[in-house]
Amino acid sequence: MKLGKYSMGIGDRFGRQGKAQLTAFVEARRQGVDVIPVWNKSNREHLIVHTEPVSVRVEADAAVGALSWNGEYHVDADHIGLKTVDRFLAPSDFFTIDVADFIGRPASEDSLRAFTASHAKLKNLPPIAGLSTPLALDADRLSAIARQYLAAVQEAGRIYRHIAAAKGADNFIAEVSMDETDRAQTPVELLVILAAMAAEHIPLQTIAPKFTGRFNKGVDYRGDVAQFRREFNDDLLIINFAVKEFSLPENLKLSVHSGSDKFSIYEAIHGAVRKHGAGLHLKTAGTTWLEELIGLALSGPEGLRVATDVYAAALGRFDELCGPYASVIDINATKLPPAADVRRWTGRQFAAALRHDQTCSAFNPDLRQLLHVGYKVAAEMGQRYLHAVEANEAVISEQVTNNIFERHLKPIFLGD
Ligand SMILES: [Zn+2]
Repeated sequence: MKLGKYSMGIGDRFGRQGKAQLTAFVEARRQGVDVIPVWNKSNREHLIVHTEPVSVRVEADAAVGALSWNGEYHVDADHIGLKTVDRFLAPSDFFTIDVADFIGRPASEDSLRAFTASHAKLKNLPPIAGLSTPLALDADRLSAIARQYLAAVQEAGRIYRHIAAAKGADNFIAEVSMDETDRAQTPVELLVILAAMAAEHIPLQTIAPKFTGRFNKGVDYRGDVAQFRREFNDDLLIINFAVKEFSLPENLKLSVHSGSDKFSIYEAIHGAVRKHGAGLHLKTAGTTWLEELIGLALSGPEGLRVATDVYAAALGRFDELCGPYASVIDINATKLPPAADVRRWTGRQFAAALRHDQTCSAFNPDLRQLLHVGYKVAAEMGQRYLHAVEANEAVISEQVTNNIFERHLKPIFLGD
């Protein structure tokens, strides 16, 4: 199973927006670019919403059937490890093998010696044209990078083989992710990681490193855009080189996680991908559910009450909801409006505060991030929330489709 050139991960906490999401990909195709939808939902999300991985397969198949989508699509077991992968095996055909927790753990001295000995030629590579800084990899540096990452790559190998034994190696796409960690991987580290992946015989088709800067959930990139641009370009050149040098799958591509809403780097991503003729996987951060809240707020008094109740409850449970996401959100609590104020807002005011439109003075990124992690509150509302979403499908699906097409597919893949 081979992943096509451009793909985008879409999350759907409550599993009701598959058709509205796919409609955006239909529109992208109509405007000239084929992007493969990949429905993803992590183990953490399943636990909080109390859903089973098979529900994502059911949703994806139903949307594909309803819209007669004849293109490729996938169901991603998002951020799984050996302990969590089993219930994803049957419904998923794309696996995000997360080994970030294994970075920095010790690999055996024997395996470290074997790796550095068999990769001695990494120290004398011919220059790779176009890199922002030439590769400099001496024996000490090679050994230090191997010490940092070899155990993580070995763990990826164990997970990969576990999945392959259950499904058959040709029946799924393997991605390896290292993004949920504190320090970004440099291009030279990526090179050594890819060499180790090949030595471990992992036919990975996408890799999600941690890039420089902050990729907070649901809001724009924070960091040095020029530095990101250099790093992203260098990473593409490294991948291109590694594919040939280590015989990795020729469609291997970069994956950008928490990639939704990173408006200030989309031009850099689009430009680099076009320039190098590279592929791209961009995973969004489950923001479709925020479009449900916007749609509810705009739908009338009942829906608005559901949306404001979610906000009020989330505000009261700030620490509990934000804790698990501490490394991927940055909320200034003093900028969060009191619940009593929000209860006086009109639906349009609520929508304007939440919708990610940086040109709108009413937009509140702190409120947006709090609501993003507040889906647990909506999950606990149970049928009240789901009924409201279903009753207002028309206004909600318009928000969902528009967000994915106009704010994501268009700038990232159409360059517009
Ligand atoms: Zn990730």
